[in-house]
Amino acid sequence: MNLTREKGLSIERNKSKKAPGKNFRIGITLADAVKLFADRETVQQWFVEQRWPYGIACPYGGSLNIKESKHKTMPHPCKEATCAKRFSVRTKTVMESSRLGLDKWGIAIFLMATSLKSVSSMQLHRDLDITQKSAWHLAHRLRFALASDGDLFSGPIEVDETCVGGKEANKHAKKKLKAGRGAVGKTAVAGVRNRETGKVQAAGMPTHCLWVG
Ligand SMILES: [Zn+2]
Repeated sequence: MNLTREKGLSIERNKSKKAPGKNFRIGITLADAVKLFADRETVQQWFVEQRWPYGIACPYGGSLNIKESKHKTMPHPCKEATCAKRFSVRTKTVMESSRLGLDKWGIAIFLMATSLKSVSSMQLHRDLDITQKSAWHLAHRLRFALASDGDLFSGPIEVDETCVGGKEANKHAKKKLKAGRGAVGKTAVAGVRNRETGKVQAAGMPTHCLWVG
């Protein structure tokens, strides 16, 4: 599941249990969910960890230079002078502009990700004790998030890789790897682009570039 328009809020599938159907279950149990979504701080923390497992990043410019504030709705101000925008874990996700609490979103995500049959908005209306209208919007947005997860890599795509990092020749003598020329010492970045939608996802590869190019 990808709740953001770019990347993040993924839910780990439980691959360790081999029982039939369990591969498609969410990595948390119902008992975990009850605890996770019981109080505001815990659920807030869970959403932050899901979205930013490597630390809070500004959704506008990607900066990791973020302040903490006690602002109720926008607790993260970006410290970059050129940006300086406030944001929350909801910013630029399907949860943006929703008045429903994160606990309701969490439970709805849990229900939709763990149910083998699709979850109707009527069920969300009853289970979450929210209005039919809110339930319809919630289900609609979560279905969008679930569907957009597969979009990126379906249809014609382009894959490319590049190497990022300073030239060996420009590095201080102590920092030189003395292993060769070209891509040595740089980080490999692979990117995928969907030709139809134009969506791009890129990620650093776990090893340095070892080839020369
Ligand atoms: Zn920023």
